[in-house]
Amino acid sequence: MCVDQGCPLSPALFAIGIADALERIQAKLLTFAPTGQVFAYLDDVMVVVPGAEGARAMDAVVTELGLAGLTVNADKTAAWTLDPQAPLPERLQGLQVDRCQVLGATAPWLDRDGDFSRVGVHSFAEGLSVVQSARTFVTKVGELRGAGLSAQTAFLLLQAFSQGHVTHLLRANYETSGWAREFDDALVQGLERLLGTGLGNSQRAQCFLRLSEGGLGFGSAEQVAETAFLGSWALTLKEVAGCVGATSWEGFRSRCGPLAASLARAEAKLLQDAGGSVQPVDWVGLLGEPKAKLQGYWSAKLQECRKRALQAGASRDDQVDLRSAGGPGAGGFVDPPVLFEDEQSKPMPDQHFLVALRDRLRLPVCPPSALCQHRRSDGSLCGVPLDSRGKHALKCEVGPTREARHDGLRDFTASFHPKVSGYVAVTEQRVSAWDRVNPRTGVLEEARLDVATRDSASGRPIFVDARVTCAHSGYEPRQRARAGKDGVAAADAVRAKRHRYPPSGGELVPLVFEAGGRPADETVAYVRSWAAELDDAERSRVIRYAWQQYSRVLQSGNAEMILSAIG
Ligand SMILES: [Zn+2]
Repeated sequence: MCVDQGCPLSPALFAIGIADALERIQAKLLTFAPTGQVFAYLDDVMVVVPGAEGARAMDAVVTELGLAGLTVNADKTAAWTLDPQAPLPERLQGLQVDRCQVLGATAPWLDRDGDFSRVGVHSFAEGLSVVQSARTFVTKVGELRGAGLSAQTAFLLLQAFSQGHVTHLLRANYETSGWAREFDDALVQGLERLLGTGLGNSQRAQCFLRLSEGGLGFGSAEQVAETAFLGSWALTLKEVAGCVGATSWEGFRSRCGPLAASLARAEAKLLQDAGGSVQPVDWVGLLGEPKAKLQGYWSAKLQECRKRALQAGASRDDQVDLRSAGGPGAGGFVDPPVLFEDEQSKPMPDQHFLVALRDRLRLPVCPPSALCQHRRSDGSLCGVPLDSRGKHALKCEVGPTREARHDGLRDFTASFHPKVSGYVAVTEQRVSAWDRVNPRTGVLEEARLDVATRDSASGRPIFVDARVTCAHSGYEPRQRARAGKDGVAAADAVRAKRHRYPPSGGELVPLVFEAGGRPADETVAYVRSWAAELDDAERSRVIRYAWQQYSRVLQSGNAEMILSAIG
């Protein structure tokens, strides 16, 4: 039996493939050891039998796994007894070990120093080695970066490592010894190295927010310690209670004292962190019916609290920028590449990716006391002093970069809409019904809309018109309004577009984004209208792909505006 390492289907295939063999092992054990049990986590197989039967148990495992096409690795086979003096069959004596390891953590319920009557499940992970593995990984990424790995790929490696590397440890134990925070620190340091700058607490907190909340989508070992542990027990309590013969929650608590204490501490911390947005865990109910996905549910509640705390501690300008960096698809450019049909994923150039990343983290993107180097067609420079956060650079009308950013959004729409809807799309469509005489200049303005096509669901003619608006406003009352609510700048831009192109001229689809990435509600509705006929999985892939492309075009365009302003 052989499965691909790293394929998401492999664990399930492996578990299915080994299930029959495990059942046969269990049946064999019972013929000579009535209390014998076999446990397995993928290829980690453990048999519990009286010491005297150890050799027969080992034979059963080797034979049955052999029939399933698996070879037992002699180097990784170990025998352990609670009493180190307990006699073992001769063949097992060379395999005897001092401590019983399960999935990289010691199991103190099998620990001779522990009180065997009080089931404590696992003891803690080897924190130091886990942290060291993160440091080693970060060093490797740094070396690869030095050897030419792109900034975007280096970022994605750090992000991926943060998301699942230690989840199994956190689900097995309530880890409070501090290694989880050090593990997070190691990855944040990797990010700091990539950015070439240190991150403050506010930026650190932002790293661990989801992309749609304005974050970088890093997983935090420290932040999931409670939810992972409690979520795991919500799923397994019933089974384990059955195993130890407990029929009530109280019975379970008294039988498994240390574990019950860990659960109580983790739950108290969860309830405190969630600030009233989470109900106490229904342990009695979970004894009857396991509940999956509670970790995700609780984590979402905690994310909401952490986002609010980050907002509350931020300056008004930062509040505006944090909101502008959130929303559906807003962080697509820091998401792993979504593949669609034959489209090749184009990595962002290093400079552009790093500027966009710095901007998302609210770090300075322009040097102090520099002047805007955007150049007019007559060769003269804009020359306006640049602010460190690049707000002038992102609003500056001088030079071709602003239009290029807009045209990128237009062109993606014009190429993608026909692909998913089947309707032809035409760019720069003249719509004479929307021509107008400019009230100030008296000059006739011809209306040209970015993309003319048909709505993918209804088939009605629509005109898509793109605009990027910077959420930052130098006008204090407006900035205050934008700091207090998501999407205010985007909604303002939609209103202006609707005013310019009223319903009398045709059906307008305002394709509006804030420069931070947040789409207007109308933009969200438009993107979701794509592929309405497809099944859920395909539809979500189309939409994720579209968001990612919009995000890449937008953030590359922003970065180009900033980099060219610096000169
Ligand atoms: Zn300028």
